[in-house]
Amino acid sequence: MPPAVDETAALLARWGSLKRELDAKGVRLLAVSKYAPDSAVAALVAAGQQDFAESRPQNLRDRARAFPSAHWHMIGPLQKNKAKYVARHAVMWHSVEDVETAAAVARHLEGRVLPVLLQVNVIGLEQQHGVSPQALPELYDEVSAIPGLKVVGLMCMAPRDEDAHACFAALRHLRDALVNGSLRSPPNRTDAGGRFELCMGMSEDYRIAVEEGATMVRLGTLLFDAPR
Ligand SMILES: *Cc1c(COP(=O)(O)O)cnc(C)c1O
Repeated sequence: MPPAVDETAALLARWGSLKRELDAKGVRLLAVSKYAPDSAVAALVAAGQQDFAESRPQNLRDRARAFPSAHWHMIGPLQKNKAKYVARHAVMWHSVEDVETAAAVARHLEGRVLPVLLQVNVIGLEQQHGVSPQALPELYDEVSAIPGLKVVGLMCMAPRDEDAHACFAALRHLRDALVNGSLRSPPNRTDAGGRFELCMGMSEDYRIAVEEGATMVRLGTLLFDAPR
């Protein structure tokens, strides 16, 4: 059933104001649609939203097939046996955390180049995904060496109940150190050219992430749900 007219109007109003706020700061809005119905995705696509994100590989595939004009970002944990969904359907893969899974995705790329971000477990919490800050330079080198994958940035999730400012600032410092080659010697300077992305910030903490230099934020609840 299509959503009520006023529900769609409310969604588009929330989207419009978030988009204006983020556009003004040069930050890209990823619409995290994992809890949203197809009708809401359709309304945003029609309104001009281009970037969407899903956290499960099969859902990414299904949504990419249903909405081929939109760009689909993979933001969740991945197992090797689902690598082909990401290789075939993702415009960007944000949650790279180990070289084996990265190699598995690359094997299914069939010639195209997939931009990826390395997910960092900045605070080192057990229940969080991502590579440790200590292991980041090595993962950067290993993934950069895989043909077909291009490392274009870093991603993190701030733990709830912790200091999001400190977490996002730490990711920015890691990015800066990686870009300028100071993270270790011999320097592993990136060749990302212009900007090296920082994908950080979700509904609860995106404003903090933007203050700390996010280039992309991932918004689900705040965008798709009624305001709390
Ligand atoms: C679900 C999800 C989001 C969006 O979270 P909200 O709090 O609903 O905005 C962002 N990033 C990842 C990795 C997610 O799984």
